[in-house]
Amino acid sequence: MEDRLADKATMDALVSEVEGMSLSIVIPAYNEEGAVRETIEDVRAAMDPLGIPYEIIVVDDGSEDDTLGIARQTGVIVDSNQVNTGYGAALKRGVKRAQHEYIAILDADGTYPPRYLPSMLAMCREQDMVVGDRGAAMKNVPLIRRPAKWFLNTFASFLAERKLNDLNSGLRVFRKAELVPFIPLLPQKFSFTTTITLCMAANGKRMIYTPIEYGKRVGKSKIRPVDFINFLILVLRMTVLFNPLRVFIPMGLALMALGGIKFVYDIWMDNLSETTIFAFLSALIIWSLGLIADMISRLHLRP
Ligand code: UDP
Ligand code: MG
Repeated sequence: MEDRLADKATMDALVSEVEGMSLSIVIPAYNEEGAVRETIEDVRAAMDPLGIPYEIIVVDDGSEDDTLGIARQTGVIVDSNQVNTGYGAALKRGVKRAQHEYIAILDADGTYPPRYLPSMLAMCREQDMVVGDRGAAMKNVPLIRRPAKWFLNTFASFLAERKLNDLNSGLRVFRKAELVPFIPLLPQKFSFTTTITLCMAANGKRMIYTPIEYGKRVGKSKIRPVDFINFLILVLRMTVLFNPLRVFIPMGLALMALGGIKFVYDIWMDNLSETTIFAFLSALIIWSLGLIADMISRLHLRP
């Protein structure tokens, strides 16, 4: 009973916090007949008590099963990529279609509990993006994927100059207007979420993380091991695009340091070697490239 009273108090507080806001919930779905209906019902159960305008947009990504049919039965807005084009492509289609000021994205596989949507929306009033952080719930990430995940997060946090707890969480709420300028940069496949995280982080947007529980997925994950390499390349590319010196300065420094060590050795041997000169020259060339990249980035991306 006490719990229920507490729940009611929290709900009342949330209702007043989200007053005047409105939300489009975009759900990409590829072969998710086992979970799509429940996902939609859970979203409705979470959103209805708020009494604010909202819409649910399911984007079918060319499913071969009955995902599309089930989504249609539920009466939500349904769009389709017709053929399987990818997670990012499905999200882009949904985002373009969204009518409301705020957008939430969520998987159709039952992993991200929709009950977080109201509080995340409330938090987004003072933010450009609120991201569900699965950090503490890493237990559901297969063991084999964990080291790769850790490495990527550490690397991306260094390049973005801020701690990025969860790079590619699929549960987030953001302001549509803040995302739209980045749409041309966003990929068709899985790296969509990583890319938005990096775009927001590298451009000084207001982004916060909030801890969420992450469930076991219904059906099979569509992510493959080669995606790790693609993620690495993506992080590098986005950093070079927005903040190139963050990549080029450390690279040049590493070469300078090697050259420096070799130089001391050369003096000791009383013989200045080609490798030393080569290391110093390479560092200078890399730094010059970095300056040019920085100039291009400023000219094109920072009006
Ligand atoms: N998805 C999609 N097109 C695809 C692959 C996946 O629309 O080509 C959807 C999928 O149905 C799910 C979401 O995108 O709702 C995320 O995919 P998945 O859950 O397989 O990725 P994971 O969460 O395992 O990283
Ligand atoms: Mg998923």
